[in-house]
Amino acid sequence: MAPPALLEIQEIVFKRPEASFVGSFFALEQLPRDGLPQVAVAGRSNVGKSSLLNQIVGQRKLAKVSSTPGRTRSLNFFRLDNRFYLVDLPGYGYAKVSKTLREQWGRLIEQYLTSSDRLIGLVLLLDCRREPTEQDRDLITWLSERQLPVMVAVTKADKLSKDKLMRKVDRVEQELGAAAMAFSTVTGIGRNALLASIRRLVDEHLQQTRIKIDG
Ligand code: GDP
Repeated sequence: MAPPALLEIQEIVFKRPEASFVGSFFALEQLPRDGLPQVAVAGRSNVGKSSLLNQIVGQRKLAKVSSTPGRTRSLNFFRLDNRFYLVDLPGYGYAKVSKTLREQWGRLIEQYLTSSDRLIGLVLLLDCRREPTEQDRDLITWLSERQLPVMVAVTKADKLSKDKLMRKVDRVEQELGAAAMAFSTVTGIGRNALLASIRRLVDEHLQQTRIKIDG
């Protein structure tokens, strides 16, 4: 059994966040302006984004699991721990919608990414049985050019054997040059690790901001 101090640390790091849904926004002017740091969550439609968000925030219905893939077109803001936002970006690349609609989604994501000065990093979701798309790669390139950290969650990890999954995670890390971890809402794998990584990113950002203000 782990010593008490370690258990205490685990409780703090993995504890269910205090989470609330702030709103769905279709235009940049509507976004919250309270200055809290923002961590975006992105991926193609049906990759398991709503399920991952539900798992992370520990409330099954907070981010609705869409029965129609790609239905969500808005930027959805969740406030966590009263310290930061998780920003659910519209799922991209759903083939059944019109080209114009697809372009509009792309534009909203692009406008948000290029204009948000509170964005501190992004969680990119990739289905473990698929290859990264051009949009996935574009997003990673764009973020690394701006030195914004990316964490890749390899979703639906329960669909692969342990061996294949490990190889997939390694390959994703090598190909995309970003830290990757397996995630499954069925087995619960990855939930604690991802939540801890997001909290660490926020903590580091807040510390740096404090140093800048104090210094
Ligand atoms: P979104 O469109 O990216 O928000 O994806 P959803 O969260 O709506 O999930 C799309 C489909 O994948 C649904 O049928 C989910 O039940 C399924 N799904 C999501 N996460 C997992 C997972 O970890 N394992 C498995 N086997 N299925 C999943």
